[in-house]
Amino acid sequence: MRKVVFFDRDGVINNNEDYYIYQWEKFRFNEGVIEGLKKLAQHGYEFIIISNQSGVFKNIYSIWDVEVLHNRLSEYLFDHGISILEYYYCVHHPETTNCLCRKPQSLLFEKAIARFNIDVQHSWMIGDQMRDIEAAKLCGIRGILVEPNSNLLLSAVNKIIYE
Ligand SMILES: [Mg+2]
Ligand SMILES: [Zn+2]
Repeated sequence: MRKVVFFDRDGVINNNEDYYIYQWEKFRFNEGVIEGLKKLAQHGYEFIIISNQSGVFKNIYSIWDVEVLHNRLSEYLFDHGISILEYYYCVHHPETTNCLCRKPQSLLFEKAIARFNIDVQHSWMIGDQMRDIEAAKLCGIRGILVEPNSNLLLSAVNKIIYE
C-alpha cells in the first residue's frame, strides 16, 4: 500500500492572498514547499492535491485554466525531482450544488484512496482550513492544520517525518 501526503492547494502549496489563483504567472510557492516535498519523498511519501475550486462555478476561471495550471505546476515540480500522483478538485458551489466532493465532504479523498490503494493509517492531510482536516478525518486520515501561506517545512513536514 502507498502512503500519501494529501495537500490542500491554495494557502498551502501557494500563496492565496490574491484569493482566486488560476494563472501560472501569478502562482507563488509558499516557503518550504519544494524542500518539504523532497524531504517527504525521501521518506517514501507520494503526493495528491485536493482542492475546492468554486471559481469555476462562478465563471471566474474554467476547468481548462485549472488543468493548465496543474500541468505547469507538475512540470515545474518534475524539474525538481518531485511528482504529483493526482489532482482532485471540486468545481461546485455550496449555494447551488449539494455535492459530496467539496471539502469538508470526503468524496475526493475516497476516490484517491480507492484508485491508488492508499494506506490511510500512514497518510496525512495538510490544510489551512478546518474543512481540509475534517474531510480527511472522515476517511481516517490524520490532518495537520497550518497557518495560511506559512513555511511548510517548519509547520508540517518535520512533524510528519519525526512522528
Ligand atoms: Mg486553502
Ligand atoms: Zn463538488
